Amino acid sequence: MLGLKYKNQDRIFDEKEEGGVPYLSFPIFENLKIVNHGFSTRLGGVSKGCCASMNISTTRGDDPAAIKENTRRIAQAIGVEAERMVYTHQTHTVNVAVVREGDEGKRFMETDGMVTNVPGICLVTFYADCVPLYFVDPVKRVIGLSHSGWRGTVRRMGKVTVEKMQETYGSNPEDIIAAIGPSICQECYEVSEDVACEFRKEFKEEVQPELFYRKENGKYQLNLWRANEEVLLEAGITKEHIAVTNVCTHCNPEILFSHRTTGDKRGNLSAFLSLKE
Ligand SMILES: [Zn+2]
Repeated sequence: MLGLKYKNQDRIFDEKEEGGVPYLSFPIFENLKIVNHGFSTRLGGVSKGCCASMNISTTRGDDPAAIKENTRRIAQAIGVEAERMVYTHQTHTVNVAVVREGDEGKRFMETDGMVTNVPGICLVTFYADCVPLYFVDPVKRVIGLSHSGWRGTVRRMGKVTVEKMQETYGSNPEDIIAAIGPSICQECYEVSEDVACEFRKEFKEEVQPELFYRKENGKYQLNLWRANEEVLLEAGITKEHIAVTNVCTHCNPEILFSHRTTGDKRGNLSAFLSLKE
């Protein structure tokens, strides 16, 4: 439908479209029937230039009127309320905010993850190659959404988010359903020795061959998908409760924003997650 290139045949995503606005959704969450969620694409909005056309991030130099209209459109498509969105201002930290009633419209500074148990509030985080992590605890009715780039992955952002759900709401990791969203794939993600070194220090030796390999030019190809899956497993989430993306942002530059493709001249993709009322 969208013409996305998938890395395998697994049904990790459904491609949806509502009111001319396409977005991706996870069957693993649809089946729970307790959340509205989605991941935006570049399509279906009104932004111009490098932010064309679906961007709701205020950090990309985009026209505020376009952002407002895009927010209205994507909210309607996914079935959430634009006025009840809460946002992160991401700076590659592992800070996770607890979102409460009354926080609607707020932007959490120096924050890369959020958790809440308030129905109707919609968590929103931003991406262009970095890894979106979605969490739903259907037993305690708690959700979490986190941004995990390579720095966040090394510092185990996924585990920190699960721990926040445990200590704040009493979630049991074995109940949590998680998804690793569209982001850069290993074949597209070349990193230098110093980045590979961080992963070598932090991850068990037996999983390292799955996380990175060295090339003749001295650089490495890093697998952020597998690394984040490992972090979620370490946090106590079971393997069958984790959906791992098979869509790469860099492999789909016409449909998804990718920092590695365009540098800073781009909009952001957005992840949305909200408990149904
Ligand atoms: Zn790729």
